[in-house]
Amino acid sequence: YDTAEDVLRDADTAMYKAKGAGKARYAIFDNTLHAAVSERLRLEGELRQAISRGQLAVVYQPVFELGPLPGLGNGRLSGFEALVRWQHPTDGTLVPADFLAVAEESGLMLQLSDFVLHCACHQLRQWQLSDPLLAELTMSINLSAHDLAHPALVARVSRAIVEAGLKPGHLTLELTENILMSHIEGAVAKLDALRRLGVHLAVDDFGTGYSSLSHLSKLPIDSLKIDRSFIAHLQPGSDDATVVGAIIQLGGSLRKVVVAEGIETASQMTQLRDLGCAYGQGFHMASPLSGAAAGEWLREQRGVLH
Ligand code: C2E
Ligand code: MG
Ligand code: MG
Repeated sequence: YDTAEDVLRDADTAMYKAKGAGKARYAIFDNTLHAAVSERLRLEGELRQAISRGQLAVVYQPVFELGPLPGLGNGRLSGFEALVRWQHPTDGTLVPADFLAVAEESGLMLQLSDFVLHCACHQLRQWQLSDPLLAELTMSINLSAHDLAHPALVARVSRAIVEAGLKPGHLTLELTENILMSHIEGAVAKLDALRRLGVHLAVDDFGTGYSSLSHLSKLPIDSLKIDRSFIAHLQPGSDDATVVGAIIQLGGSLRKVVVAEGIETASQMTQLRDLGCAYGQGFHMASPLSGAAAGEWLREQRGVLH
């Protein structure tokens, strides 16, 4: 080291790593940590400019009504879930797992959420206006813990809806079970305010967190999205099938709409339909598509939209 500042900076990094690992730990600043930190700093710097340079994009995964009747193919299209992507100039297309943590830690999350919110609301409105059969199409958008904690969340959502000319009831905001339950104190008032706006609310990745059932019945939530880890190994009579069946019944008793995600096979779709799951999404029916590709896909679906 040439300067004391550099020593302190690296010691600081090691300290954060030790703290992140739990209580009474130590960490050594070595080449691996140095490389990880450099990579993170690089991504953070690039992410800061990605929005203004138009590198962020939203892809849309169709969500289907599974319906009680067999033989309906994939079911009726009900809407889309918006998922963020980063078209990185050298690293290719990055998925949320590659950069959401960086966005959270560097204070870029709200900007990212606003971008997705505006993009997805405008896209939905365009599709709704393009064809009377699409007038009731819905859009689901994922929010982060930072969004839930943000004092102006309701105003931000309201602005996106008004600017796009959308009916609030066509928008669903998703929060993961973990985010909701770990911010439960402040969350209820915020969720009530969003509900008053008329938007719908969903618990994402349901079943992987630690929901207290008493909270679940009191939260102003419209739907539960069963985490895809339960869907992946779905076999008739398996433990996962029992858990999924129980979640669907719980949802029904609490008057929540139940959505299954990560449906990859026809057998999973049929089982979910038999278990009474109302909605589903997954690679078996359709993968996430760019705005243009989803528009094209919608035109191809015209014949079956009714
Ligand atoms: P999620 O909200 O549970 O979204 C579903 C994820 O499962 C998406 O991954 C989707 O591409 C993937 N997926 C869909 N169908 C299948 C399938 O059949 N099999 C498998 N294995 N995967 C499937 P993605 O796009 O990588 O997003 C991951 C997570 O990142 C999302 O999970 C969500 O929690 C978060 N996320 C995505 N976009 C945003 C965003 O705009 N804002 C925020 N705050 N979080 C986002
Ligand atoms: Mg989601
Ligand atoms: Mg999920």
